[in-house]
This record gives sequence, structure tokens and C-alpha cells, in this order.
Amino acid sequence: MRDFTYASAATRVVFGAGSLQHLEREVAALGAQRPLVLSTPGQRAFAQGLAQRLAKWEATVFAGAVMHVPVSVVDEGLAFVRETRAQALVTYGGGSAVGLAKALALETGLPILAIPTTYAGSEMTPVYGITGNGEKRTGKNPRVQPKVVIYDPQLSTALPVATSITSALNAMAHAIEGLYSPDSNPVMDWMACEGIRALATAIPGIRRDPASAVARSQGLYGAWMCGTVLGSVGMALHHKLCHTLGGSFDLPHAEVHSVVLPYVVDFNAQAAPTAMRHIETAIGAQAGQGAAAALQQLAWSNGAPASLRALGMREADLDTAVNIAVNNPYPNPRPAGPMALNAIRTLLQHAYEGRPI
Ligand code: NAD
Repeated sequence: MRDFTYASAATRVVFGAGSLQHLEREVAALGAQRPLVLSTPGQRAFAQGLAQRLAKWEATVFAGAVMHVPVSVVDEGLAFVRETRAQALVTYGGGSAVGLAKALALETGLPILAIPTTYAGSEMTPVYGITGNGEKRTGKNPRVQPKVVIYDPQLSTALPVATSITSALNAMAHAIEGLYSPDSNPVMDWMACEGIRALATAIPGIRRDPASAVARSQGLYGAWMCGTVLGSVGMALHHKLCHTLGGSFDLPHAEVHSVVLPYVVDFNAQAAPTAMRHIETAIGAQAGQGAAAALQQLAWSNGAPASLRALGMREADLDTAVNIAVNNPYPNPRPAGPMALNAIRTLLQHAYEGRPI
């Protein structure tokens, strides 16, 4: 067994269908007054319902979260925190709501209680991202890691099927890159395989029956596993490309992940053979089918978008995207810096066109 370093983050997880019933208990345990409930505009009504339940703590709502955490929204949120004198942040929704809470916690140190309804996994990480001047700046700080996470699979039954599928593939990407991370360890490898396996089962299950308690539970469980991997070990080329495409070209986060992932796995296949074997086993690849092809089949057969073109990417922007991505590259099993510019440009072209692997 290789040498490794393992550090665990102390997040309290409350998991199970109907576990939102414990909201008041968990807020009381935080010991904070005036919790501020954060959501995207689409989830405002639900956020208001939560604030009503928390009325005795004088809860308020800010439903202005949007994808990629623009700095203007952070400033607005900070002004709201000061005005309401909030002592805790409660998020309802996906990575956009959690992302805003993290940006606010970074400035204020307020504790976060997250109620995730997508599979993005941000609730399990100390990673934050803020977008300004056309670039997404990310960083790590333990103060932004949620203190409590309530995973209630019943809540995600409202998540549209298409969003559910791409969100689950987004989660899988964390586990996949964790498997070939230079700072991986046996515990994270196990969680990564467990997460991939759960999501590979959840994806067709949700597509068949979006209200399935079993499939929704597998989905959130997988998201938890994969989010923990994301928060614990470094990510590689895939996350670099997706941050670039999302942050600089305003493409939808989970959809970009689901399009790009098979091409990056293909790019890294020969440089990370052990990770590939783990992925193939966890996903249930057919005999002789590589990890990349198995992933693309899982995505496409469940209706995920097939190309960056379909997401509104302009072909003329591919050169700019590759230049941003290869400068300042993340560690990757196959070199992904400026010397790999042509190979990564080809990868993006294939993702743009949606070529079968
Ligand atoms: P999101 O939060 O924007 O949610 C996607 C869509 O689903 C939105 O339209 C939202 O309104 C809708 N939605 C969410 N919950 C719903 C529900 N219960 N019912 C119906 N609709 C619902 O996006 P996301 O994919 O969850 O997260 C993406 C964002 O999170 C990106 O900004 C990404 O960079 C960030 N992220 C950060 C980390 C991290 O560790 N920092 C990890 C993963 C993702």
C-alpha cells in the first residue's frame, strides 16, 4: 500500500427521506439567531416556507443566488446579511445557493446549514468560487465548509429529470478525478467508487421514475460520497476545463460537466490505468468497453446533452478556452499544460461536436 495523508472534515450529515423534519432541531443546535435562508429565484417559495418554520429565530430569505456566484450578487448578499444581522446561513437548492452561502461565510464566518436538492456536492467541500471580470476565482477555506447537511431525497423529486441526470454526472466527475488525483488515498478511492456505483444506478432509475425514493436516495448518497472526494483531494484537467467553460463563457455548469467528462477520461485513459479499471467496475461497463465509452453511453442513453454546441458554446471561442485552461493547469495524470495545447484543443473540438468515443 502506498503512503498517504488523510484528513477528515467535521460535517454533521442528517440523511433520509423526510429528514427535513429535523430542520428546527438542527438550527437550534447551531445556537444562532436570525438565520438567513438562501436560494435561487426559482426556489423562493420553498425558501420562504423554511423561513416561516424558523420564524421563532426571526429567519429571513434572500432568493438571489445564481450560477457561478457573480461578485455583484455576493455584494448584495453581504449587504443583506448586515441589514438583517443574520447569525447563520441556511441554503435550499443546489450548488448556486451553497456557492453564495460560501462566499458570504468567507467574509463573515457565519455557519452554514445546507439542504441540497441537486447532486453537485458543494455542501461537502471547503471550496468556494466567485466570478468577476469574466473569470471564476476559486479557493479553499475551512470556514466555508457547511457545519450541517440535511440530505432529504424527497426534496430532489422536484428536480427536473434532465437537470437530475446532468447533476449526477457532475457529481461523478468529482469521484473520477479523485481516483487519479496525486493526493488520493484508500479511503477517498473507496468513497469515489461507492459514489460512482450509486450514481450509475441512480441515473437510469431517476429517468425511469423521477419520484422513486430508492433512485433519489441513491442519487443523494452518491452526491455525498462524490462531494466528499471533491472536498478532500485535488481535481484535474476536467474540472479546469469546466471551470473555464462555465466561468468565462457562462455555460451551464452540470451540462458542461456531462458533455466534457467522457472526453477527458479518454484523454487520461492510458496515463491512469488503475483509475480506469475502478471506473469501469463501478459504472458496470460492458466487457471490453473502456471507462470513457461507458460514461458516454450512460450519459447519452439517459438524455444528457451530447455536445458543447448544443449548450450554446461558440466554435470561435474554443481557442480562447483552451488558452485559459492550459495556462495555470491543475495536476493531471497526462500533462495538460501549454505543451498539450494541441491535444486539448482537439479534445474540446470533439466535445464541441459531440463525437462518439
Ligand atoms: P444550481 O444550484 O443552479 O441548480 C441547478 C438548477 O436546478 C437551478 O435552475 C435550480 O433552480 C434547480 N433546482 C435546484 N433544486 C431544485 C428543486 N428542488 N426543484 C426544482 N429545481 C431545482 O446548480 P448546481 O448544478 O446544483 O450547482 C452548480 C454550481 O455549483 C456552479 O456554480 C458550480 O461551480 C458550483 N459547485 C461548486 C462546488 C464546490 O465545491 N465549490 C461543487 C460543485 C458545484
